[in-house]
Amino acid sequence: MIASSRAFSVTTSSSSLFTGKLACLDLEGVLIPEVWVNLADRVGVEALKRTTRDEPDYNKLMRYRLDIMNKEGLGMADINAAIESMEPLPGAVDMVAWLRERFQVVILSDTFYEFGMPFMKKLNSPTLFCHRLSVDPNGKITDFHMRQQDPKRKSISAFRLMNYTTIATGDSYNDTTMLAAADAGILFDAAQTVIDEFPQFPAVFGYEALKEEFMKAHDKTEVAGCYK
Ligand SMILES: [Mg+2]
Repeated sequence: MIASSRAFSVTTSSSSLFTGKLACLDLEGVLIPEVWVNLADRVGVEALKRTTRDEPDYNKLMRYRLDIMNKEGLGMADINAAIESMEPLPGAVDMVAWLRERFQVVILSDTFYEFGMPFMKKLNSPTLFCHRLSVDPNGKITDFHMRQQDPKRKSISAFRLMNYTTIATGDSYNDTTMLAAADAGILFDAAQTVIDEFPQFPAVFGYEALKEEFMKAHDKTEVAGCYK
């Protein structure tokens, strides 16, 4: 069988429904570096290095980041400069291409379109579901807008309603509800604290190990009676 047809399982009965298979990926820490950590280095503001690994409450974390940005007089121009200097993680472009040959790929991220879209171009434009910012004419970030609360988990639930099986991967606390809701969840390059707290998920390091885990998850989530 050709690799591309792995994204779909079709029952042999012509009247049955078929189940598609989605690969759902976190963005920062999985395919690209942490944007805020990079920005903190560029502008020399150590306090901006807090990430979801340090503060699991994303709303709290974003309020904290925007407060510091405003106090330091930083705006979109500083973020754009940081983003322009960043590339996807080594091997990420190939990882996305490998997944897209085998699954339908959706990136579920707590980033903002203003940050994420330049990276989507570099990753050959996979689908990105995330949030957005309000920016005033002077480039000051005035607010942030979540698409919804707990968006990663809710996206997985919505995909299930659409009869998609999901294999999800992420590196941090804000991914764990997504991993739990998915048919298979994988921790990728996660901090030891996250791995220890969520031992129910297999934890892998590096894209080769991630590919292997995806194929294991793919085999485990095959519906009996379907052919590959
Ligand atoms: Mg992440």
